[in-house]
Amino acid sequence: MEKIALIGFGASAIGFLKGFEEFKLNDRYVLDVYEKGEDIGRTGFGGLKYDGKLFISKGMGGDLEIPINVQKKVVEFYLVKSGLAKIDDKGNLIFSENIEKGASFENEELYKKFYHAGFEPIRSYFFHLGTDLLTETVQKIYEGYVRVKNINFHFGEEIVGVIPKGKEIVVVGKKEEKIYDKVIVAVGRRGHKLVNDMVKNHPELILSNDKVDLGVRYELPDHIVEDLNKEMYEFKIRLRSKTGYIVRTFCNNPSGKVTIERYDDFLTVNGHANSKQKTSNTNFAVLVTHSFTQPFNDPVGYGSYISKLSNILAGGDKVILQCYEDFKNSKRTKKLGRVEPTLDSSYYILGDLNLALPRRTIESIIDFLERLEGVIPGITYPDNLLYGAEVKFYTNKINNGFFENMKIIGDCSGWTRSITYATAHGYMLAKSMSEMN
Ligand SMILES: Cc1cc2nc3c(=O)[nH]c(=O)nc-3n(C[C@H](O)[C@H](O)[C@H](O)COP(=O)(O)OP(=O)(O)OC[C@H]3O[C@@H](n4cnc5c(N)ncnc54)[C@H](O)[C@@H]3O)c2cc1C
Repeated sequence: MEKIALIGFGASAIGFLKGFEEFKLNDRYVLDVYEKGEDIGRTGFGGLKYDGKLFISKGMGGDLEIPINVQKKVVEFYLVKSGLAKIDDKGNLIFSENIEKGASFENEELYKKFYHAGFEPIRSYFFHLGTDLLTETVQKIYEGYVRVKNINFHFGEEIVGVIPKGKEIVVVGKKEEKIYDKVIVAVGRRGHKLVNDMVKNHPELILSNDKVDLGVRYELPDHIVEDLNKEMYEFKIRLRSKTGYIVRTFCNNPSGKVTIERYDDFLTVNGHANSKQKTSNTNFAVLVTHSFTQPFNDPVGYGSYISKLSNILAGGDKVILQCYEDFKNSKRTKKLGRVEPTLDSSYYILGDLNLALPRRTIESIIDFLERLEGVIPGITYPDNLLYGAEVKFYTNKINNGFFENMKIIGDCSGWTRSITYATAHGYMLAKSMSEMN
């Protein structure tokens, strides 16, 4: 039997395991799953740890072509595991009463309102698991696969090297080295070091790397966006701003909380929402896409420096918080207004994001919010809050055709940015393997 190593146990690995079982690949292969987290409670990152919003959309989540029926299948899988839905005797999906779900821009009137103001509204369906349900859900998924024949889990095993050698691949762990017939790398964004090392040895793996999204987390009282939240929970829109840069909303959290995202040597902001413990504020990211051309080739470095700069200005291990009017007028915020921040006060300093973000980024954000005021009155109230910096790194886009026996899936491949797309990426790889002789 051929041996496969699957590195990482996050969303894309879950998708692969789902396909591995469904297409009975365990009759042909033995699969070793290596996860650096010490146990199941310490695996996964991002959406499988916080928030857990599941989208079905053609317009967001990644750059792969994922058929809608595959997206639906993946989302149903998580919903059933979480207990928020079940399949009845006739095979129908039945939702539980407390599920948070909705559709974006199904309401044509709303669609047109945004459209006429210059925005591109993105249609999607979504389901919200909530931070509190995620650990249980991932645990149940693991319990389902740990019983399957020829799937072996190895926790606390960080892989530090993947070296293709002809028909075999050497997988270098911190504890030992092993040889496999096939390797699937599914290490997410956190595993960027492993993928960067692989790319250094095989630059042919990179298709492109030229973007970073930079911006702020915006927070305001629920009542300003109440109607919108009720209508669609997550509103995703894009705008080509007056600077020529594309600005978009990302990760809307009604009654949610602003959080810190910790990298090795800097802090950025993010947001999430629990399914039960609610706040009275909504937060969402306003992100500006920066695309660079040669000779500059380090968008990750650019985003990291700006994040570090905002931490330095905030006195170290903190981010900057500013009121909208001060942001617009380039003045340091010294006193907050009516909006109470949901981020713990030990993580922020009142300051001026104009000292950290580039002018083009700031002008793009202001243009976006001012135009949005025409559609959502109150969005530019002077005491609404901005936290910064929020950064979304794009991983190198990987050429998965380069190695026959080594594939890179999920966010570390640069092709996905969401639970649904990452899971579907893994699932589709298993499907394509099942179709091979
Ligand atoms: C704060 C936050 C909130 C988010 N919220 C959402 C959301 O609500 N909805 C949504 O769709 N998306 C969300 N995302 C994005 C989503 O989490 C990712 O797109 C998705 O999890 C990517 O799946 P993946 O398999 O590529 O990586 P991951 O899910 O990150 O899994 C990678 C796994 O590999 C392991 N690993 C890493 N390096 C190694 C190594 N060297 N050796 C062994 N194991 C390793 C990690 O420990 C991890 O368990 C969010 C992201 C963040 C950061």
